[in-house]
Amino acid sequence: MDRRAWGSRLVAALLLVGLAYGLYQGRRAFIRAFFGDGSVTVAGGPRGPWSDGGLGPAPRVRVVLIDGLGRSRALGRPAFDRLCAAGRELRVDVGFPTVSLPVQHVLWTGRTQQESGVLYRIPALAEPPVDALPAFVESRAIAESHPAIVHSFGFAAAEPPLAVGDALPEGWRAGFDEAAIAAVAEPTRLVFVHVLRVDEAGHAEGADAAAYEDAAAAADALLGRLWAADPGARWLVLADHGHRPGGGHGGPELAIRQVRACLQGPGIDASAAVIDARLVDLSRALADSLGIGPSPGSAGLPWSAVIAGDAPPAELPRPSAGRWVVALLGALALVAAGLVSAGRGLRWGPLVWPLLAHGGLIAFVGPLTLSNPAVYPPLGAALIAAAAPGWVALVVTLIVVLRRSRTLVALVSPLFGGLAPVFFCGVLAGVGGGEPPLIPIWSAECSAWMALAWVAALVTAMVTAMAAVIAAAAPTSPRDPASGASRAR
Ligand SMILES: [Zn+2]
Repeated sequence: MDRRAWGSRLVAALLLVGLAYGLYQGRRAFIRAFFGDGSVTVAGGPRGPWSDGGLGPAPRVRVVLIDGLGRSRALGRPAFDRLCAAGRELRVDVGFPTVSLPVQHVLWTGRTQQESGVLYRIPALAEPPVDALPAFVESRAIAESHPAIVHSFGFAAAEPPLAVGDALPEGWRAGFDEAAIAAVAEPTRLVFVHVLRVDEAGHAEGADAAAYEDAAAAADALLGRLWAADPGARWLVLADHGHRPGGGHGGPELAIRQVRACLQGPGIDASAAVIDARLVDLSRALADSLGIGPSPGSAGLPWSAVIAGDAPPAELPRPSAGRWVVALLGALALVAAGLVSAGRGLRWGPLVWPLLAHGGLIAFVGPLTLSNPAVYPPLGAALIAAAAPGWVALVVTLIVVLRRSRTLVALVSPLFGGLAPVFFCGVLAGVGGGEPPLIPIWSAECSAWMALAWVAALVTAMVTAMAAVIAAAAPTSPRDPASGASRAR
């Protein structure tokens, strides 16, 4: 065997290890970038005076948010049903991403996630938003857990106290129901109760689990007791998002993005019709109920327009036409490079393993959205394991290369089949645009493809190194296939 042949394979193997490492680190940076704030496209401002939009102010307003209660699981709950039947029921689109603090940011400011730049924020806001509704009235909030959220929106009083790591005071959960009932019974203008047991059960066991059903039933029973403590107030009951059957939220699925909400009390005429609205519209109704003007820049419609069914569908972020062109051209170029370098011996080989790997992902970890917990971990072990059919195909493809073509170019050709989708979804997810790469479908797909690509690069590196070792060890003879390899290079 020609020394240069196995030497170049060894160098190629090292370069491929470097590529795998770069893709692995790139994926980690990509996921970390989800959690930064985006730029503000619609700035809030101090709210002006209330103007009649079909809904007059109420002396007392009570808001109950049942975190993580999907719409289908909110229907048929006794207390929720009674409250809705006595008022107006809405099917509310909370926007994207479906994450608790950002969704509440929409509720309290009237600006969408994309408008405020509060997209996928987990920790408390350092300062309440300038247009945070609770700051304009006498207000109080009480949360079952995760105090970072209720401490972010300017409530005059918020419990439990903000603590490191969302720690709760001793006995807080046990006393929560009674404390919440006592809070809504007070004359405070705005009282907000944030119930979190359903979301916690959803994360722990998924929306299909008995624990989720139990938590939903318990939350509904609490709602009934809260309502009974001040039946004369104007009540808004809603959720912030649903949960996947196996647990998780964050993505744009309708089942997660659409929640049940009901507005009931003095000044609200009961109707059986279910109204479609955006969360910004509901935020406007809340401001009207408190006798406060809308936030400047908020697209929320007045109540008269909402009940007339005039609210347009919520707008989700999507890739620009320019990004589609770049993504398609770049991905096609990478696929072409893979097919050309594969040569006749391999034909469509570079495309087989990625298709099988992606099929494995859908089959074993479910649809790839930001609701799927598998897309976040740094190693992506669940993704890598689910892609097993693709790994079998990749190894078979590489063996075929070693037996038929044996050139270094052919050996790396299958990798292009994995790099093309990384480029494609990375461009569509908004990488390099200076904003968090949060776009429905493409962000989650990209996380998955980057995990597949770094593993594929590593597998290709190992096979290339093995081929170098085998070639170096093989005796040189005219009938030795390895000498063909050096010629084919
Ligand atoms: Zn959650």
